[in-house]
Amino acid sequence: MQDCIFCKIIKGEIPCYKIYEDDYVLAFLDIAKDVYGHILVLPKTHCKNVLDIEEKTLNKVMIAVKKISNHLVDDCGFDGVNILNNSEKGALVKHLHFHIIPRHDDDGLEVFPKFAGDECDLNEVCEKLKIKEEVFEAIPTQKVVLYTDGACSGNPGLGGFGAILIHNGKQKIVSGGEENTTNNRMELMAVISGLEAIKVPCEVDVFSDSAYVVNAFLQNWIVSWQAKGWKTAGGNEVLNIDLWKRLLVQVEKHKVSWHKVKGHADNELNNACDEIARKEIDKLRN
Ligand code: AMP
Ligand code: ZN
Repeated sequence: MQDCIFCKIIKGEIPCYKIYEDDYVLAFLDIAKDVYGHILVLPKTHCKNVLDIEEKTLNKVMIAVKKISNHLVDDCGFDGVNILNNSEKGALVKHLHFHIIPRHDDDGLEVFPKFAGDECDLNEVCEKLKIKEEVFEAIPTQKVVLYTDGACSGNPGLGGFGAILIHNGKQKIVSGGEENTTNNRMELMAVISGLEAIKVPCEVDVFSDSAYVVNAFLQNWIVSWQAKGWKTAGGNEVLNIDLWKRLLVQVEKHKVSWHKVKGHADNELNNACDEIARKEIDKLRN
């Protein structure tokens, strides 16, 4: 951010009274000279405020806030600290920062604002403002990449499916097979078993070469099937309802992004899934 005064301080274009620095965080004295030892702690990457900051960076900032606060109390003779932040409302500088106000027992400061009072019913307020558990649990925090493929020898015939999950640079393989099944069912099972292997709600990028599976979501077929009581546009019963319902459970749990890849082409992971699926068919055959 070119015009951001704190970014300029971070770049060294404007001097500061540095209190602490690490790879992610800078802390310096506030120039206001309003309170002895007033310190600002900020991330070195520009972000507007608490509503905007990426969680990992916020962690680093809060760890620094604690480190500095401990130092003020343990090494500098203060009795405690007050930590303040303005987000959207009241901020003069729109680069996230926490104010640390070092405190002495007898300093007479009124750091926490004196509010006029509010005649509210706390039950009502709590009902309105509390984070409902299901919403809270649905906030996906981790990213997973999921490659899937299904295969069938004869349609219907012997079928196999394979899924490769990638999370934090680690891979996990899920696979299975069934007699007397179809290619579409195996494509569905590949995605279902991959998603079912992810125990906590995640952001999942699903890569499949099945237009049947991917377009059901990207083209909202699944929504209109359900609206019509699991009937197709032509009025026929949707095939594989059992698996679509099983997949929907997973789609509600995770935040899924769908990607169609070209099958039997140069996508290494798609090809690897194909190979896993074919091995499952071989297992059934032998
Ligand atoms: P806020 O109102 O929460 O955005 O606080 C911004 C703070 O940044 C104020 O307390 C200012 O005194 C402080 N400030 C502004 N410019 C500088 C600067 N160049 N060096 C140190 N502190 C600054
Ligand atoms: Zn900035």
